[in-house]
Amino acid sequence: MAKYLGPVCRLCRREGEKLYLKGERCFTPKCAFERRGYPPGVHGRSGTRTATGRESDYLRQLRAKQKARRVYGILERQFRRYYEEALKRRGLTGLILLQILESRLDNVVYRLGFASSRAQARLLVTHGHFLVNGRRTDVPSMLLKEGDVLTVREGSRKLPYFKELPELAAKRSVPAWLQRDLNTLSATVLRMPERAEIDGNLNEQLIVEYYSR
Ligand code: SF4
Repeated sequence: MAKYLGPVCRLCRREGEKLYLKGERCFTPKCAFERRGYPPGVHGRSGTRTATGRESDYLRQLRAKQKARRVYGILERQFRRYYEEALKRRGLTGLILLQILESRLDNVVYRLGFASSRAQARLLVTHGHFLVNGRRTDVPSMLLKEGDVLTVREGSRKLPYFKELPELAAKRSVPAWLQRDLNTLSATVLRMPERAEIDGNLNEQLIVEYYSR
């Protein structure tokens, strides 16, 4: 399972906005973007624009794709596979692509407030703390579908992290497409998310344009 191993805050600076990749730290003055909100590298402060001073269409499409990839913590090959899968399904390709990304197990764990970032969610999943429909799984890229039930493993509930989790998770709201039960540390996927329930900051149209060039 490949993943990005470089400095995470650099990704926010590259995209020119906070992507909230580090959980709690992102909300503190320690956030690197708060202190250095310009792109990384020697040309960081001068920006990456064309000779005319305007971003090219290609650059806007590339940035939209890279941002989505980084928000969900996915490498290029896997991201392209998701796009190709979205193309095969009936409906709006951009929306379907976002729905595929949202239905990843690590994202669902994050959306439920069971982890403070997708990176932490991925770690919890790979350590085998969750069951999907009663079966233990350690694959963060597993795609959940309507009706799937996620639970924290019985043995894991005794760990300090999961003992404190209900109190911490209660502070986080859950999107309407998921149903969470903090007493049993379980959740059900009620349906796929609608566009308004996914980060409005992502531009799926530009992503589709990028891959259809
Ligand atoms: Fe981005 Fe969070 Fe790092 Fe700030 S602390 S730069 S929001 S990952």
